[in-house]
Amino acid sequence: MIISDDEFGEVVVRKNPLSTGVKFSISTSGRLQMSAPKFTTAFLAKRFIKQNRELIREKLPIKDPSSQRARDAKKKILMKKAKEYLPYRLEYYAKRFGYTYEKIRLSHANTRWGSCSSTRTISLNIGLMQVPEPLRDYVIIHELAHLNHMDHSSAFWSEVGSHDPKFKEHRRKLKSYSPGV
Ligand SMILES: [Zn+2]
Repeated sequence: MIISDDEFGEVVVRKNPLSTGVKFSISTSGRLQMSAPKFTTAFLAKRFIKQNRELIREKLPIKDPSSQRARDAKKKILMKKAKEYLPYRLEYYAKRFGYTYEKIRLSHANTRWGSCSSTRTISLNIGLMQVPEPLRDYVIIHELAHLNHMDHSSAFWSEVGSHDPKFKEHRRKLKSYSPGV
């Protein structure tokens, strides 16, 4: 569960069936996280934060909460944009090139632009909304081509190339962007 705090930004609440009390710590990305008993609701989690606000402020090295909050806000906007755009763009290319996929998932992983599962679910990173359209389209075409080739074989690349003749250039340019928000 993730709750949003005005001061600390997004707080990850991990429910632990073994824990009897609440414990605060810092995640690897510098966010506040909370380990709490299984029954903890969002309402309770917020109350735990409220009760411990002073202590958290003093004891825990939260990485610049204000930039954390700015990032959360940006992520929200990107997610909204992505929801309005990526499903339609994917459908457009799928129809145009004759692919059928099962469903689309929007992700915000830090490391990959997209993926295609063996169950034909295509994941697209909301960070794609921040890259130029030809590069975004290349990622969509790349993942669609994985529906026919679950590898990066030469057959895969020639299929990508048949839909996006400039894919090499797009692939290279994409490397100067990062999928993380
Ligand atoms: Zn791939």
